[in-house]
Amino acid sequence: MKNEIALVTGSSRGIGRAIASRLAAEGKWVAINYKTRRDCAESLLREITDKGGRAAIFQADVSQKDQVDAMFDQVERTLGNVDILVSNAGIIANGMFQDKRPEEWQTAFGTNVFGCFNVVSRALPNMLSRHRGAIVVVSSMWGTAGASCESIYSSTKWALIGFVRSLAQELTASGIMINGVAPGVIRTDMTETLGEETLQYLADTTPIGRLGTPDDIARIVSFLCDYDHNFICGQTIKADGGFLN
Ligand code: NAP
Repeated sequence: MKNEIALVTGSSRGIGRAIASRLAAEGKWVAINYKTRRDCAESLLREITDKGGRAAIFQADVSQKDQVDAMFDQVERTLGNVDILVSNAGIIANGMFQDKRPEEWQTAFGTNVFGCFNVVSRALPNMLSRHRGAIVVVSSMWGTAGASCESIYSSTKWALIGFVRSLAQELTASGIMINGVAPGVIRTDMTETLGEETLQYLADTTPIGRLGTPDDIARIVSFLCDYDHNFICGQTIKADGGFLN
């Protein structure tokens, strides 16, 4: 059987990297996407190929439709048609609503929401013509609940949950499974900026007694990518160690 091709946006670091690494270990050919950190993308590529997997690197800012289209053209030429799309690339935008400028809303929506729209819309025609494929969208627990200083980030992540629910109604009958995952606090470069004291507090107030790891999320994404055996449609699975109930 042909190896499946998986494109993971924002897979040079953090959660996306763990997802790409896991999918590669499962035998998928992985398209590693990054925006600026080519060094990190290259180290993941080495890691995958050293273990006998197959992958290639593709630079694109997902908020830019022309860059996304060019990336897909390149992926199709290099690896083949994308069977699995993980829309993971995202940025934070913390701070009090009243301190935020319109440009900060635009930047966050550009990456977190339009970035997802750009990759999904480019992947779909091909998936639809082959009646197969999985799309997994990385939201956040702040897409399921509000929090102080999260008005921008939370809005972007709620948008993704609505997008996944609605699109599933259009796609599932065509053999394409779309679902999402809503991580809690996961230790990555994104959360390092919170500082050790805050991270320890968050770990202590998480019922499971620890923060999440990128692998915790990769395991769920891998499960959702199994489109031939999946009975879950349009859901965003919260994985937060019980932080929100
Ligand atoms: P991270 O450590 O900051 O890594 C972000 C990744 O996204 C990097 O690979 C980065 O590429 C890439 N990226 C950022 N903007 C991009 C763009 N415009 N185009 C293409 N790639 C871009 O973040 P993370 O913690 O792994 O978060 C990954 C996803 O999980 C995000 O959607 C985030 O909102 C979500 N999430 C994270 C947490 C958490 O606690 N960490 C919780 C809930 C949800 P470069 O390396 O090139 O910069």
